[in-house]
Amino acid sequence: MGIGIDLGGTTIKGGIVSSQGDILEECFKMTESHRGYASVLDDLTDLINCLLELAPEEMVVGIGIPGILSQDGSTVLSCPNLEWKNVALKKDLEARLTVKVLLVNDATAACIAESAFGSLGGKANAMMITLGTGVGGGLILNHKIITGAHGVASEVGHMVMGKNFYSCECGKNGCLETFASATALVRYCDMRLKQGVRSSLEKAKMMDAKFIVNEAKSGDALALEAIDRLAEYLGMAISNISDLVDPEIYAIGGGLSYSGEFLLEKISLATKKYLTYPDFATPEIVLARFRNEAGIIGAANLVNYI
Ligand code: BGC
Ligand code: ZN
Repeated sequence: MGIGIDLGGTTIKGGIVSSQGDILEECFKMTESHRGYASVLDDLTDLINCLLELAPEEMVVGIGIPGILSQDGSTVLSCPNLEWKNVALKKDLEARLTVKVLLVNDATAACIAESAFGSLGGKANAMMITLGTGVGGGLILNHKIITGAHGVASEVGHMVMGKNFYSCECGKNGCLETFASATALVRYCDMRLKQGVRSSLEKAKMMDAKFIVNEAKSGDALALEAIDRLAEYLGMAISNISDLVDPEIYAIGGGLSYSGEFLLEKISLATKKYLTYPDFATPEIVLARFRNEAGIIGAANLVNYI
């Protein structure tokens, strides 16, 4: 049993998770990451303390971070969507808490959960892709989590896919994340509305990805155009990843995975167009079993898999 935390830009989610991957208790906390590191540190401390009070036994805390960690897992080297660079998160949290803290990339945490208990089914070569504020990746090759020489292996969100109309938080232009995240969907629709395209999206008080997906399901042309564009770029990315490391299965998770089969079908169709060897090397593409909860489950079970 362990505590798993998924750190996002607006919400921190946490849970007490059994060693079979069941979430026994769950807590959320809104956070204002734009207020900076110290403020997020306070929010994380509060949430962890709240879970520790509910915990029936002593436990380790695993935290999924939306960025890159040092090889010893102590420092967050870069976190584009939180605008953090070189922060000693493990040390800073352990100084405030009475428990041991382990850090991991958020998509890698999700990959661990899906591999151990979910849709990746323990397959030898598998890839997790999370679609949320950013686009994250977790890669397993020959049953091993791959982090690379500098911890940036499987950072698929920052693979450059072509020019885009806005730049990524990492500073580059054309990252997959700017074509295929929840943020990207909203930015694209906003841009098209400003160009004067008529759409049911105009009635949104606050446009978010969920609203766009629902409007697309109801047949709105702009919402559909935006989702098709997202799926097209993911299809290209998946075929590129397949050319490099040939996973037998991909799981699609993160907040956007709640769009379900509607999105999955579009991603699968787009991928088919770009695969180099569709006759004998077509990977399976599935929805993550734990959707957006996978990060919590994986982070809570890090000790066993990293
Ligand atoms: C970060 C990744 C992270 C992903 C999802 C990207 O911007 O570079 O490390 O996994 O967002 O949060
Ligand atoms: Zn980028």
